[in-house]
Amino acid sequence: MGPSSGVKVVVVGAGLAGLSAASTLVKAGFQHIQVLEAMSRPGGRVHTTRPFGQDIIELGANWIHGQEGNPLFHLARERGLLLEESGSAKTMCLPGSLTPNNYFFEESGRQLPVDEVDQVCAFFRGVTSKAFGSELEPSHSAQSLGGYLDQEFAQSPLGASKVGQRIFEWCKRSECTDEASSSLYEVSAVQLCHYVALEGGFFNCLGPGGYQALVDTLLDSLAPGSVLCDRPVHSIHWALEEERHAHPVSVRCRAGQCFNVDHVIVTVPLGFLKENATAMFEPALPVSKASAIESLGFGTVDKIYLRFEKRFWPDDCDGIQLVWDAGPEDEKVYRYSQSGGGDWRDTWYKKICGFDTVARHPTVLCGWITGREAQHMAGLDEKTVGEACVRLLRSFTGWLVPEPAQVLMSRWGSEPFVRGSYTYPPPGVDAVREHNALAAPLPLPSDAAHSQEKPLQVLFAGEATHANFYTTTHGAYITGIREAQRIIDLYGDKKLDS
Ligand SMILES: Cc1cc2nc3c(=O)[nH]c(=O)nc-3n(C[C@H](O)[C@H](O)[C@H](O)COP(=O)(O)OP(=O)(O)OC[C@H]3O[C@@H](n4cnc5c(N)ncnc54)[C@H](O)[C@@H]3O)c2cc1C
Repeated sequence: MGPSSGVKVVVVGAGLAGLSAASTLVKAGFQHIQVLEAMSRPGGRVHTTRPFGQDIIELGANWIHGQEGNPLFHLARERGLLLEESGSAKTMCLPGSLTPNNYFFEESGRQLPVDEVDQVCAFFRGVTSKAFGSELEPSHSAQSLGGYLDQEFAQSPLGASKVGQRIFEWCKRSECTDEASSSLYEVSAVQLCHYVALEGGFFNCLGPGGYQALVDTLLDSLAPGSVLCDRPVHSIHWALEEERHAHPVSVRCRAGQCFNVDHVIVTVPLGFLKENATAMFEPALPVSKASAIESLGFGTVDKIYLRFEKRFWPDDCDGIQLVWDAGPEDEKVYRYSQSGGGDWRDTWYKKICGFDTVARHPTVLCGWITGREAQHMAGLDEKTVGEACVRLLRSFTGWLVPEPAQVLMSRWGSEPFVRGSYTYPPPGVDAVREHNALAAPLPLPSDAAHSQEKPLQVLFAGEATHANFYTTTHGAYITGIREAQRIIDLYGDKKLDS
């Protein structure tokens, strides 16, 4: 019997962070690990489905971002879960990853010449990568990414062209899918430099089992019954006095079940914490953690899948991109609409950047939409959304676009246990400090009353708790291992490789 054999740990959330934490503890010899998941399935923001037949459709994460130093990529490769034929890999259309086979259309129905689009996208890529590469002047420190980009574009010769401006607006709208924001005016320009992009490509694809195959690999490493689904945790009571309680933490489920444990690893999404953290913890979270939850941004990205009976786009077409006549806004217009003005709800569909073709599904298109417009769309039914998409496709391309046979949308913003898609750094926020504050285990070292006796009572993992890999699946996976390792170290076991 090792020192860890009697230790009881509950993990809240069965996404990649929760499952990697549980799996790491089990590998280190911990025997009493219970994962509690609110939804009826494990995986969290990984959600692989098969609505159109045998082949998978990802409603959540799609790609593994980067290879070098990415433990999730290595796990997928080791288990043979990566896509082998690169020919059937699909990317999404971002200004940074254009393929020449993307068809760009204006509202008038004119197809834009590739070189015109390329020029503006290359400029966009250049200025955006300065922000990601810490090359911004101190004068940009309080600026939003949108404000910084507008300023740079206005100073460039491209900014004088009306078409150039429209393409630039498309780039900004499209970049919102990377930042999960309603608008780039919500995202800090200077804080983006803390995000670390791993070498080895942004769009590494999984094989026919999709992301679920990685989730299954982690589930296989756990004992049967270790993961309980449909078990939303209602509250976490910590710092319980030793005289009256055998364990310092009590985790209570909404249905009344109660788990008395030594450690709880909380991996719920930042969106859920924003809505529920105040009521969930007793005693309340320290100020540093509550303010991290409040100040970091958590935005929505949704996908709209349209399945047609027959393909109506040319064989060489990788995607249909929509370039509107008027940009949705500049910073002033955006702020005005945010304070209740404007009619963005009536024109929510203008936020759809375009429709990409989908791997393994020759007659399916995937549209992308972000922010408040995505949240608005979540309240509409599939028929209404499908009709809006077909209207757009017909009017922009002039092609004969049939009615879709099936429409499927993700609704991450209205999913009660997630409330959004991923994290971003808002302007004026010291993002590294806040990610780290979110990650800090409780009691904090400053809380002298509890830290000596019973350390590491409440630990935090999940994508939002990583200062450099936030938003990603590998970020989530690594944080689960990080928190498990803290517990392993506490009991003196040897360090595990990730
Ligand atoms: C549309 C979309 C596309 C994406 N694309 C990519 C991509 O291509 N590549 C990439 O790297 N990343 C992508 N991501 C991000 C990636 O999916 C996430 O960063 C990652 O999956 C987060 O894992 P996690 O374990 O931190 O959180 P989650 O997966 O959200 O897991 C947290 C779990 O906690 C559960 N929970 C919440 N509250 C409770 C409670 N009270 N009690 C019990 N359980 C609770 C939730 O139900 C959830 O299952 C995408 C995300 C979305 C939404």
